[in-house]
Amino acid sequence: MNIPADCRSCGVCCFSDSDEYVWVRGDDWSQLGDAADRLAHFIGHRAFMRMQGGHCAALDVRQTADGAKEFFCTIYERRPQICRDLGRGTPECEAELETKGGRCG
Ligand code: SF4
Ligand code: SF4
Repeated sequence: MNIPADCRSCGVCCFSDSDEYVWVRGDDWSQLGDAADRLAHFIGHRAFMRMQGGHCAALDVRQTADGAKEFFCTIYERRPQICRDLGRGTPECEAELETKGGRCG
């Protein structure tokens, strides 16, 4: 499994078809501050990041001058703990690439 050199050229782990993909815990919600209501919501008793277009609502997909796609987390400094735990090169990152690699963007 080739791990991308930079998450900005990948973004795979920010994509999902599930509305219950990015868990937002109490601390995460507080950390989101005024962005919480816009980017996260409750489903039952648990909160999750909103999903739109097949990816987390906080993800910004940009196109470079040469046509390549770049993936930016617009709340990087305030992202939920589950995103912090899924670091590049971790087994979870490898699993994401294995199951979803190539289908994003
Ligand atoms: S909060 Fe940021 S890192 Fe986490 S899934 Fe959303 S865009 Fe990706
Ligand atoms: S953590 Fe892994 S799957 Fe997520 S964007 Fe970075 S390289 Fe891609």
